[in-house]
Amino acid sequence: MTERVPSYIAGRVRESAAAEAHPIPDPATGQPIAELPYSTTQEIDEAVAAARAAFPGWADTPVPDRAQVLFRFKALLEDAFEELAALVTQENGKTLDEARGEVRRGIEVVDFACGAPTLLMGSAIDQIANGIDERLIRFPVGVVAGITPFNFPNMVPLWMIPTALACGNTFVLKPSQQTPLSAVRLAELLGRAGLPEGVFNVVHGAEEAVTRLLEHPQVDAVSFVGSARVARIVYTTGAANGKRVQALGGAKNHLLVMDDADLEATVPALVASAFGNAGQRCLAGSVAVGVGRIGDVLVEELASQASALKVGPGAEPGTDMGPVIRAERKQAIARQVGGAADVGATLVADGRDAGDSDGFFLGPSILDHVTPDMEVWRTELFGPVLSVVRARDVDEAIATANRSSYGNMASIFTTSGKNAREFRRRIQAGMLGVNIGVAAPMAFLPFTGWKDSFLGDLHATGTDSIRFYTKQKVVTQRWF
Ligand code: NAD
Repeated sequence: MTERVPSYIAGRVRESAAAEAHPIPDPATGQPIAELPYSTTQEIDEAVAAARAAFPGWADTPVPDRAQVLFRFKALLEDAFEELAALVTQENGKTLDEARGEVRRGIEVVDFACGAPTLLMGSAIDQIANGIDERLIRFPVGVVAGITPFNFPNMVPLWMIPTALACGNTFVLKPSQQTPLSAVRLAELLGRAGLPEGVFNVVHGAEEAVTRLLEHPQVDAVSFVGSARVARIVYTTGAANGKRVQALGGAKNHLLVMDDADLEATVPALVASAFGNAGQRCLAGSVAVGVGRIGDVLVEELASQASALKVGPGAEPGTDMGPVIRAERKQAIARQVGGAADVGATLVADGRDAGDSDGFFLGPSILDHVTPDMEVWRTELFGPVLSVVRARDVDEAIATANRSSYGNMASIFTTSGKNAREFRRRIQAGMLGVNIGVAAPMAFLPFTGWKDSFLGDLHATGTDSIRFYTKQKVVTQRWF
């Protein structure tokens, strides 16, 4: 019997009343590790009601006391570090090292949120007019719904939960239906950390559950991370229902390689960016732009280093790249690679056949001479595929990257400060790297996608998140 994944409502682990359950396979074997009943509408409403009921008490809890719960949560996460990483590998497929990295990045958000008493301070000005003072103070927004993707089942929920709770909000998390296990484990640890019941809840499901949360009159704010298509649905539906929304979407990140780049250091950074997490990362470099004379040698080096990557189960020592999340994704990615070759791209590394296995493995693929009119350039494949585009100079490289409808991350590899400066000023993306393959801001700064990669005003993490999870009052005061 495989485990039926429970939800977590009002401080208790709950079996769903839903009769049907969806199998959750281990991506490395294809074998079921659990089955997931989608929460019924009644269960979702109960979770929201529990969060609503817990809100006044939690919002009134002194900020340092809320922070103490997060300090205990942090200690529990550290104690459970290896177990949490193993769980990520099991449900997502990524390597153990990648899973450890994800859990560490998630814990850093807890570290940030533990500073709530300082972060939540407002501001004041004496004598703004004769006999009048003004001050700005922050209050929690209310009930927050978090909707998260499959690719970081531990870290992305942790982008939201610690800060939302530190600010005095209560929370209903709807994790990816493909990777629901880590979320339930986080709920249990929050309970053990002493979080009052109802402050944090987990429900399960897909489109229907999200729609219920977006339309629920008792949900005040929605934090979403997922594909650009769903980000747009969540943003428009949430806003139409009067909610505060931040919606982080997909990406097509360009890595510009100038002909003055230090190739020895650059190529491993590109390979790690494109093929780490099997390319299932919103900060994956999916297009390399070879500028000037460097193109041919760059492609040769990329193909040689990519072919040396060891593809296998994430839990196996020595594995460089795990499987993708589902068999259908594997087939769709392989089709895109074949389609690009059919319309003129040169397949210099073909990862479509990764051997006999019931797991969802693909090897690394590299397509050279990709052009912006090809679907493979426009579309986020979310798999281990690197497209290479050629450009004459830095101007053409920046112009090519800027044609993308996405604007999550872009990086330049160069030894020239002038090239780096031009890039920094003119590229249309929010997270930039200079000689960095995965330019991920740490928890203390905002995760700043642009264009179709982000809809909303205030980004996830950092001081933006404090503003997203609080409402302000400005008090103008005079004493007669
Ligand atoms: P997804 O958009 O399919 O799913 C994300 C969430 O939305 C899930 O919880 C899912 O149940 C829900 N959902 C799916 N279809 C829905 C619909 N029609 N209406 C309402 N809700 C729906 O994304 P995914 O495949 O789980 O994750 C991969 C995507 O997430 C990639 O596009 C990746 O770039 C993106 N991502 C972005 C960031 C970022 O910071 N910008 C971070 C991680 C992942």
